Amino acid sequence: MNIIIFGPPGAGKGTQAKILVEKLNSFQVSTGDMLRDEIKKDTEIGKKILNNMDHGKFVDDQIVNKLLEKVIIDSKKNKLIFDGYPRTISQAKNLDVLLSKSKKKIDFIFFLNVNKDSILKRIEKRKILEKRSDDDSNTILKRYDIYMTETKPLLNFYSSHKGFHEIDGSLGIDEITSKIATIINV
Ligand code: AMP
Repeated sequence: MNIIIFGPPGAGKGTQAKILVEKLNSFQVSTGDMLRDEIKKDTEIGKKILNNMDHGKFVDDQIVNKLLEKVIIDSKKNKLIFDGYPRTISQAKNLDVLLSKSKKKIDFIFFLNVNKDSILKRIEKRKILEKRSDDDSNTILKRYDIYMTETKPLLNFYSSHKGFHEIDGSLGIDEITSKIATIINV
């Protein structure tokens, strides 16, 4: 079973993805985590990635798509939880191509819907706990704007998928998990 979780920054995609990974013994595909790993390697590409992230911008498709391709093509497992990819229509189309090449398909798509005020409050808390350099107030506003223009259009792209479900992302972690668990029947 392959699942996409998408929504605004701070919607809880990563949190739910980690819970699902435990429940389903599956594999989390977090492009954000992969990119942060690249930054730790302190390479030229890592510096470029950090610069984009710290300005609230998306990292170039070329870099992200390459990381993703490796995971999908390499992965023998058919249990992927996508968290943070796709973030644009063009990435969604790229994902479709990669999945069909490796004879995989998406079974469920969860859109975690959270309003801007709640996001800003959540990110304030996360900033203290996780110390992410892209969680400062200016960057998060930028990330939210880019989400609205680049990622939200995915709603149209995916809403006709038979596994598409919108979930109120302002609910508590356990409530969201239980809604997802009911839908996917685990
Ligand atoms: P996340 O951990 O998913 O919140 O991602 C943190 C940051 O990594 C984003 O604000 C982007 O700068 C970058 N990033 C993560 N996933 C993608 C993606 N699919 N496309 C472009 N940039 C990404």
